[in-house]
Amino acid sequence: MELYKENQLKVYNSLSKTKEDFNPITDGYVGMYVCGPTVYSNAHLGNVRTFMFFDVVYRYLLHLGYKVRYVRNITDAGHLENDAEQGEDKIAKKARLEQIEPMEVVQMYTVDFHNVLKNYNFLPPSIEPTATGHIVEQIEMIKEIIERGFAYEVNGSVYFDVHEYNKKENYGILSGRKVEDLIHNTRTLDGQSDKKNPQDFALWKKADDRHIMRWPSPWSDGFPGWHLECSVMSTKYLGEQFDIHGGGMDLKFPHHECEIAQSQTCSGVKPVNYWMHTNMLSLNGQRMAKSTGNYILPNQILTGENTVLPKPFSASVVRFFNMQANYRSILDFSGDALEASEKGHSKLMEAVNFLSKLEVGKTSTFDVQQWKADCYAAMNDDFNTPILISHLFEAVKVINQIREHKASLTAEDLEELKTTINVFVFDVLGLMNEATQDNSEKISGVVELLIKLRKEARENKDWALSDQIRDELVALGIQLKDGKEGTTFSIN
Ligand SMILES: [Zn+2]
Repeated sequence: MELYKENQLKVYNSLSKTKEDFNPITDGYVGMYVCGPTVYSNAHLGNVRTFMFFDVVYRYLLHLGYKVRYVRNITDAGHLENDAEQGEDKIAKKARLEQIEPMEVVQMYTVDFHNVLKNYNFLPPSIEPTATGHIVEQIEMIKEIIERGFAYEVNGSVYFDVHEYNKKENYGILSGRKVEDLIHNTRTLDGQSDKKNPQDFALWKKADDRHIMRWPSPWSDGFPGWHLECSVMSTKYLGEQFDIHGGGMDLKFPHHECEIAQSQTCSGVKPVNYWMHTNMLSLNGQRMAKSTGNYILPNQILTGENTVLPKPFSASVVRFFNMQANYRSILDFSGDALEASEKGHSKLMEAVNFLSKLEVGKTSTFDVQQWKADCYAAMNDDFNTPILISHLFEAVKVINQIREHKASLTAEDLEELKTTINVFVFDVLGLMNEATQDNSEKISGVVELLIKLRKEARENKDWALSDQIRDELVALGIQLKDGKEGTTFSIN
């Protein structure tokens, strides 16, 4: 039987602001869409937090036996410099500044993004569609929105009519904002907008002469508005209604609100059943910002080439650190916090690596079945990774007690413990076993110790012992080489 049948998952839905039972539209199948990066600069650590959490969601759904179609897009056009939709396309601007082709910018930062994901052990999504690869579909959707009376054209640009939509539907359903309040809070910049109302948002923008990224359309040579691609690509690959839509909290408004309005206008149904949003990430207690220097790239954490952390940290430690916090809480990234996580991580890995050497006992002094149920319960409760980790540490405690002969497990329980730990540590949390590196340091230390003992044996003319040490090391594939500077070794 598939595991999902015996594990009722609960998901915090940002739309209802409550935890709800997760029941997919089609039994056994899950459609999940997560807003991907805009590839005009290096992958941002805040985004990595979001994608890492959804990677764990994806991993857990797969573990439960669901067939998951996970779509995460690449925004390679249409994302304007500011949310007021004035100004230049972010990618085109970068290309102009660096004197390169826009697609060169896109390629460079897409490669960078994938490189970061690979280093941090992400599973690739099922489909990774691009905005520029779906211009035709975006134009079709705009036509449909115009036909239904919810968009209008002005001077070659097309805008979504928020007020018209709000007459029948609720613009603000996700973010809790009210159109009336928005009107009050928006300052109109005279002569800078063709929009009927400042709340309206662009579906298509006419490109000015300087704008390099442009496509022909019935309205003008131009480019699509940023919000449109996600409605188009989620509908194309997951259908008019799908299960999970995720993203960072900062995307709730206006991006996700606009997605709902566009999709609902075309299909007449609510597009997403469960909206999930990850909270923000701060760095040393401050907002991350390039301008203040309080900034770090995901790969700089691994190399140590940065000024905000005291030393490099491994990708698995960073993953572990991320998972120690609930995805709906603000997470502060700091050297102290990472060092604490590093200690916890190595304690966990040390126990995992000792699993195969544990002796089987006659009786069990620990309720493995209950512990296993607790691990699943934590994940079933809106992917509560910090609680899962606390349960993993209960197992660490038991493993260490067995090592000291203060606890015992029967063969069957021990097997269950091993399997469950491996599932949660590696398959679900996606941590990596970096023990090989740690162990090689330990092996070197042990060989150095044996070389010292062999030297003492030779000084005492104990040739038998000295030969025994050398021969037994050779049998293990470790060669000793005596030279003027002392004895060195090599491992085959
Ligand atoms: Zn999106």
